Amino acid sequence: MEKQKDAALQRRKCSRLLLFPLPLQGHINPMIQLAEILHAKGFSITVIQTKFNALNPEIYPHFTFHTISDGLSDSEASKINAITLILELNSRCIAPFQCALSKLLAESSLQDPIACLISDAILHFTRAVADSFKLPRVVLRTGGLSSYCAFSLFPLLIEKGYLPIQDARLEEPVLELPPLKVKDIPMIKSLNLESLVELVNLMVQETKASSGLIFNSFEELEQPALVRLQDLLSIPIFPIGPFHKYFPATSSSLMTQDKSCISWLEKQVHNSVIYVSFGSLAALDEKEFVEIAWGLANSKHPFLWVVRPGLIAGSEWLEALPNGFLDTVDGRGLIVKWAPQPEVLAHPAVGAFLTHNGWNSTLESICEGVPMLCMPRFTDQPVNARYVTNVWRVGLALENGLDRDKIEMTVKKLMEEKEGEEIRERMLQLKGKASLCLNLGGSSHQSLESLASFISSF
Ligand code: UDP
Repeated sequence: MEKQKDAALQRRKCSRLLLFPLPLQGHINPMIQLAEILHAKGFSITVIQTKFNALNPEIYPHFTFHTISDGLSDSEASKINAITLILELNSRCIAPFQCALSKLLAESSLQDPIACLISDAILHFTRAVADSFKLPRVVLRTGGLSSYCAFSLFPLLIEKGYLPIQDARLEEPVLELPPLKVKDIPMIKSLNLESLVELVNLMVQETKASSGLIFNSFEELEQPALVRLQDLLSIPIFPIGPFHKYFPATSSSLMTQDKSCISWLEKQVHNSVIYVSFGSLAALDEKEFVEIAWGLANSKHPFLWVVRPGLIAGSEWLEALPNGFLDTVDGRGLIVKWAPQPEVLAHPAVGAFLTHNGWNSTLESICEGVPMLCMPRFTDQPVNARYVTNVWRVGLALENGLDRDKIEMTVKKLMEEKEGEEIRERMLQLKGKASLCLNLGGSSHQSLESLASFISSF
C-alpha cells in the first residue's frame, strides 16, 4: 500500500499544473491555497498571473510564475472597477494567454509534462484557448455551491419571470431555489442585466464544457446544492474545502495586514469583540457607514473594524466618521485599513463577525465558529447570507436598510440573548464538521484524493 502511494506521488512529481487565478483578492487567496494543497500532493505548480495585482514570486519559491500582459495601461489599471476588469480580462488576455500556453507547452518535456490548466471559473475565455492546445481544463469556482446553483439556473429564472427583478416581488420565495427570496438572486447593480446574464451564462457554459469543477466548500455544508449541480453539469465536482485549513496560514494578501490589531485583541475579554469587515470590493455610502458606526458604539461591545481606503464611496478613508467618534467609544473600538482576517477570526476575543458574506469570509467564520451578522451587498453575498441565517442558522440578518437602532439591537441579540447562545452552539457544531471533513476518510479528504487521481489520469 505504502509502495503504491509512493509510486503515485512519484508520478505526480513529474506532472505540472498551470493555475490561473482571477486577479482579485477573494479569488487569489483560494487559488494560491489550492496551489499549496496540490503541491503537497506532489504536483509541480506554475501560476499564470496578469500584471494587474501580480503576486511577488519571491514569496513562493516552490512555485514557478509566468506573468502575462493584461493589456491595461497604468492609468486604466489604477481606476478600473472589478466588473470592468472581469469583462476586459476576458477579451484582452486571449492572445497573451495563447502565447503563454504555447511557450509553456513547448518548454514542457517528458520529465516535466503539463497535466492540465486550473482556471478561475470567471476567466471563461481560457476554455477555448486550452481546447485549442488539447490541454484539459479544470475549473476552480471560488464561491459556494449553493450560489453556483443560482447562477446555473439564470435561464430558468428569466423564463419564470423572476428576472429582471421587480421591486414588488423582492420578498417572494424563489420556488426553484429554496430558501432564496427574489431579493437574494445574485445581482450586480453597476452592470445591466443583459451583460450580467451574458457573463454568468459564459461562466456556466464554459465550466460545463471543461473536465471538472473544484469548490472551496465541503459536502456536509452544501450537500443539496452538490447533488443538484452534479445533475445540472454532468462533470465531476470536487468539494475539497475549506482550503485555508489544510496548512498554517500563508498570506496572499494584496494589502499590508495591520497585525497591531492582534495585540489589541489580546486585551479584550473572551468572545466579546465584534469583528467588522466588508471584504476587498464592497462599498458603503456615507450614511450607511455612519449608521454602522453608531450602531456599534451604542451596542457597547468592543469592535475591530476594517475600513479599507475606498470602502466609503466618495471618501479617502475616515472623513465621514463623526468628529471625536473613537473618543466617544472610550477605547472600545479599533479601526484598521486591512487585517490578518483568518488570524483575527481565530482569536478567542472575537465573538461575532459583521460581514458582507463574501464566500471566503463566510467560510473562514464557520471554520473558527464565529457567529455572523449578515450585511450582504451584491453578487453571491445575499445567497451566502440566506444560507447563514435560514439554513445553517449560524447568524442573524441585517437587511432592509441599515439604521443604528436595528444594528444595536441585532448585535445585542447575538451577543447577550438566548437566541444568540443557540446560534453560537449551532456554529460550534458546524465548525466541528468543517474540521472533520479534512481528516483521513472525511468528505473533503476523499474528494481531494479523487481530484489528485483524476488530474493524474490526463
Ligand atoms: N481579508 C483580509 N483582511 C481583511 C479583510 C479581508 O485578509 O481585512 C481577506 C479575507 O480573509 C478573505 C478575502 O480577503 O480571504 C476576502 O474574500 P471574500 O470572498 O470574503 O470577499 P471579497 O473581497 O471577494 O468581496
